Amino acid sequence: MSERSPVLFNIGWNACINCGACVAICPQPEPFISPFDTISVDRPCDIACMLCESICPVTTIDHVAWEGTLPQSPLNNRSHHT
Ligand code: SF4
Repeated sequence: MSERSPVLFNIGWNACINCGACVAICPQPEPFISPFDTISVDRPCDIACMLCESICPVTTIDHVAWEGTLPQSPLNNRSHHT
């Protein structure tokens, strides 16, 4: 189909059951995984197939259009204290 715009995924950490389904189905050629064994949330996905969102059993993955900046997220806050 047509080329899609990169997206940044967001995961509801309280809902995630760490099933690994999103990572297992992800077609990215390089590992696209977070420190919490989910798909990455700190870099854009340029494939944007949304298979992870479709397969998540607790439907806790969503996304925003990648605009070259990282929104504040619990993950970002966890790793940096500035
Ligand atoms: S598919 Fe959903 S519940 Fe499973 S690890 Fe990914 S975000 Fe968590």
